[in-house]
Amino acid sequence: MELPFAESYRIKMIAPIKKSTREQRETWLKNAKYNLFNLKSEQVFIDLLTDSGTGAMSEQQWSAMMLGDESYAGASSYYNLKNAIKNILGFDYFLPTHQGRAAENVLFSVLVEDGDIVPGNSHFDTTKGHIEFRKAKAIDCTIDEAFNTELEYPFKGNVDIKKLEKVFAENDNKKIKFIIITITNNTSGGQPVSMENLREVSKFAKSKNVMLVIDSARFAENAYFIKTREKGYANKTIKEIVAEMYSYADVMTMSSKKDAIVNMGGFIAMNSKELFDKASVFNIMFEGFLTYGGMSGRDMNALAQGLDEGTEFETIETRIKQVEYLGNKLIDWGIPIQRPVGGHAVFLDADKILPNIPKEEFRAQTLALELYLEAGIRGVEIGAILADRDPITRENRFGGLELVRLAIPRRTYTNNHMDVVAVAIKNVFDRRHEIKRGVEILKEAPIMRHFTVELNKL
Ligand SMILES: *Cc1c(COP(=O)(O)O)cnc(C)c1O
Repeated sequence: MELPFAESYRIKMIAPIKKSTREQRETWLKNAKYNLFNLKSEQVFIDLLTDSGTGAMSEQQWSAMMLGDESYAGASSYYNLKNAIKNILGFDYFLPTHQGRAAENVLFSVLVEDGDIVPGNSHFDTTKGHIEFRKAKAIDCTIDEAFNTELEYPFKGNVDIKKLEKVFAENDNKKIKFIIITITNNTSGGQPVSMENLREVSKFAKSKNVMLVIDSARFAENAYFIKTREKGYANKTIKEIVAEMYSYADVMTMSSKKDAIVNMGGFIAMNSKELFDKASVFNIMFEGFLTYGGMSGRDMNALAQGLDEGTEFETIETRIKQVEYLGNKLIDWGIPIQRPVGGHAVFLDADKILPNIPKEEFRAQTLALELYLEAGIRGVEIGAILADRDPITRENRFGGLELVRLAIPRRTYTNNHMDVVAVAIKNVFDRRHEIKRGVEILKEAPIMRHFTVELNKL
C-alpha cells in the first residue's frame, strides 16, 4: 500500500480552543453587529478569518528569537534578515516595516501621486486602499478565467497582457510608474501567477519603462504551484524558482505574516539605490530607523529563519495539502468553491450557494454569518462589502465575485478540524433554500469598511 501523506512536523506546544452553543453564538453575533471582526477570539472554535500572522512558528524560529539583537542601529538581527533577503530573494536593498501595508505606505509615498494609474492583478484591499487614498486608480488586469470560479485553470492569478496594453493605450503613460503583481493573487482566490506570465509582464514593463513591483505575501506558495503545474519546473527547488521569480521584479513588498510564518513583520526590497534612498526618508518617518523599521530584533531573526524554512518544499507541501484536503471534501459533496483550490484558503462561492438572496443584501457576508452560527467557524467575506464603494460615484461595487474565504493558518489546525469545517459547510449548504434574507449596512467607514462595518440581519 502507498503510505498516506502526513505533516512534515510534530506538535510541541498547544493552545486550547473552546466550543460554544448556537444560542451563545447568536447573542455574540448580534452584539458584534454581525461583523465577524468584532468577535472575541474565545467566541470562535475554529478561526479561519485569516492566515496572516496566525501560523505556528518552529522551534528554530523561537530559538532565533532568543538571539534577537535589540540594538537601535546596526543590530545583528538586521544583518541576518538582510542576508536572508539577498540569498533567497536576490535584492540588494531592503527596508524593514511592521507589516505589509506599512511597506505599501512607505513605497507608495515615493511612487504614487494624485491621478496616477496602477495596473495589476486584483490588487489586495490594503494595496488598493493605499492607492485610492492617494487619489490614484488601481486597474485590475487579471485574466478573465479568474472570474469563472468553477473553471479549472492552473494560473488564474495571471495578468492579461492585452488588458495591460489597453491601460497604457488609454492613459497618459507618465501617470503609470509601475505595474503591481500580487503572488498569489489573494483577492481572486489565492490563485498563482505562472513564471511565463511574470516573464511576459516584466518584459512588457521594461518596454514601457515602468517598474514591476511584486506584492509578495504568498510568494512561496506561488513557487510551489509553479513547481507542480508549470512545464520545466518540476525538478527545480522552491528556492531556485523563487530566485527566478524575483529576477523579473524591481521591487517587492512583503507581508511576512503569511509565507514567512511570523506573527508580525514586513519589508520592502529593491534593486535601486535611488529608490531605497527616497523610501528611507518615509521609512524613518513612519516605521523607524533603517535597521529595524517596525520590527524588534527578535522579530527580524524569526523572520530571517522563516524565509528560509518557508521556502523549503516540505513546509509548503504540508500546508497546501491541508488546504486541498478541505477543498476536495467540499468538491466531492458538490459545494461550489473557487477551483482549483487556492494556496492558502478555500473560497466558497456565495453567489452559487445563496442565489435567492438579493445581491444588495450581501450574499457572501450572509454565508459567513451562517457558518459561524452553525459551528463557531469564522471565515471572512470577500465580496461587495470588502470591495468598498466606488471612490467617485460612491456606489456599492456589486458585480464582482461573492466569496467566503476560509483561510487556513499555517501549522495550526489538524485535518480533524478541517473535517468539522467541511461538515459545518455541508449543513449550511443543505439548508441553503431556507436562507432567504441577508444583511444591510448600518454604519461604514469611507475606506476599507469591512473591518469596522456595522450590519443588521434582515
Ligand atoms: C496581507 C497582505 C497585504 C498586507 O499585509 P499586512 O501584513 O496585513 O499589512 C498586502 N498584500 C497581500 C497580497 C496580502 O496578502
